Amino acid sequence: MNHLEDNLDGISDCFTGRAKFEIVITTHHKPDADALGSTLGLYHFLKSLGHRVSPVSPTDYATFLQWMPGNEDVINFEESEEVCSELVETADLIFCLDFNDLSRINKLGEYVKASNAVKVMIDHHREPSGFDDYRYWTINTSSTAELIYDAILKYGSLDSIDQKIATCLYSGIMTDTGSFRFDSTSSNTHRAIANLIDKGADSAEIHRRLFDNFTLNRFRFMGYVLYQKLEIIPEYNTALVYITREELKMFEAQTGDTEGFVNFGLSVKDVVFSALIVDRTVLVKMSFRSSGDFPCNEFASEYFSGGGHKNAAGGSSKDSLDLTVQKFRKLLPQYSKYLKS
Ligand code: 5GP
Ligand code: MN
Repeated sequence: MNHLEDNLDGISDCFTGRAKFEIVITTHHKPDADALGSTLGLYHFLKSLGHRVSPVSPTDYATFLQWMPGNEDVINFEESEEVCSELVETADLIFCLDFNDLSRINKLGEYVKASNAVKVMIDHHREPSGFDDYRYWTINTSSTAELIYDAILKYGSLDSIDQKIATCLYSGIMTDTGSFRFDSTSSNTHRAIANLIDKGADSAEIHRRLFDNFTLNRFRFMGYVLYQKLEIIPEYNTALVYITREELKMFEAQTGDTEGFVNFGLSVKDVVFSALIVDRTVLVKMSFRSSGDFPCNEFASEYFSGGGHKNAAGGSSKDSLDLTVQKFRKLLPQYSKYLKS
């Protein structure tokens, strides 16, 4: 069922440009290509209608994302708290993309909560916390970028999609579908992609920029993880990688450098659940992926204060890395009905 909660007709002036607004667009911390692509896609669209629009990221993000059209206009809240808080306070509308709980935007969330602006959430994650006034929300769409595309078609028009918008939205859809592999890839996804290519998105170039753009260190780090760190727990068809602070230092890991590592395990025969556990300075951060029925989001929310989708979720732990890994191992037997072949 493609259940969509949509009351954007209440702000249709914003999509037609009949009235002009001061708008902030924001997305979750450490934005990935879907978060950034949907932010910048919507940014170009709203700007073309004559609104004053500011894209704000709660944190920095990976260098391999820093080429999207409009990237230079993104304001990093951590670097420019005063500017961002002012923009949020005085905005008429704040678009919140690819997240549905203000905890996902760190301290920026306090300013968003306090602002009198109308809050609009466009998102595809489970269980929105309900901070929004307007929403375009479903869990059945591949990516927030696809939702932005759908919303532009519904409330604006295909004609208003230019090459910049197309490039940003293509990037978000392509990465959140695992290059059109995941279950969430629908015929609508492919129709959207076809139209975005017609509007000038250069598919081969976008793939190159996103996937063939790593530092040598990052590549060596990947090799090290595959050779030394990927562990298979055969009785539970589970793959596990955990990474220490020393290892992050050893490979001079930058923001985004461990992205994708969680997927390696799922490419091993019979593995249905894969976990990546990384010792970040403040927290131990966890990523989960599954194929089939194992509910990553339940696992993440029940035990690691996280959430996400059935096949892709994340969470964190305030325990040490060792304790977190121990806890993870001990939990597997409880899920044996999903994990045992
Ligand atoms: P990733 O593993 O790529 O960081 O995240 C995968 C999915 O899980 C994303 O859809 C993301 O929104 C969700 N997710 C990751 N970390 C957290 C978290 O700490 N809390 C919640 N609620 N969701 C998370
Ligand atoms: Mn997304």
